Amino acid sequence: MILLSLQSMKLMKLVPNAVRMSSTLSRDSNFFFRQLFDSVSSTYTYILGDLNSKEAVLIDPVIEHAERDANIIKELNFKLLYAMNTHMHADHVTGTGRLKSLLPGCKSVIGKASGAQADIHLVDGEEVTFGSHKLLTVATPGHTNGCLTYICHGQSLAFTGDTLLIRGCGRTDFQEGCSETLYNSVHQKIFTLPNHYTLYPAHDYKGVTATTVGEEKKYNPRLTKSLKEFIQIMDNLNLPYPKMIDKAIPANKVCGLY
Ligand code: FE
Repeated sequence: MILLSLQSMKLMKLVPNAVRMSSTLSRDSNFFFRQLFDSVSSTYTYILGDLNSKEAVLIDPVIEHAERDANIIKELNFKLLYAMNTHMHADHVTGTGRLKSLLPGCKSVIGKASGAQADIHLVDGEEVTFGSHKLLTVATPGHTNGCLTYICHGQSLAFTGDTLLIRGCGRTDFQEGCSETLYNSVHQKIFTLPNHYTLYPAHDYKGVTATTVGEEKKYNPRLTKSLKEFIQIMDNLNLPYPKMIDKAIPANKVCGLY
């Protein structure tokens, strides 16, 4: 088993841009992928694993489903290394803290710029390793300061959190939201990936489960526009105050253990 910690920096090395663009067209036979859903907040949680080493990671768990997620991991005989967040969520409480007690040995992970507590704070360019697979951390601020996109170049896929949703994007009207920053993150860090890369967001409200870079570059109704038009769209969404925000943000600052 390989443990990732702030001290074991050799596992989280800076990767040059040229290496970041390498990709393959098909998934390895030892790559495990499972998408799970929370119908209350329409949140997707992802379990990724290496079927040979049995090491796994979990992205964006929801506290109410921590037992469900832990049971799947136990039944499939995985060893959960990291319970990771793409950002400090405002619409649900993270399951990372509870998963640490359900699956002893697993570490909580979040972006350093989130300002939230966790065992591991990632910054742009660091890698998370499970078995023979790697997730590259890419800073994609705009929805929040600490938003990260996790890219698995080996399997041609990325987990975009709330930075890029399917035919949409995260809100920029609360936390540290900034429309211009989000627009630049998407155009510079996500739309520069190969068109065939599959994108998995943190949410979908219409039952769609995934998209690709090429589709979003063509059909995203907000991010295909100019920066000026995008800012106008985001300034005029007139969305209601998020129901869970006053509970979720204080809880998520401490890994959901409040
Ligand atoms: Fe969010």
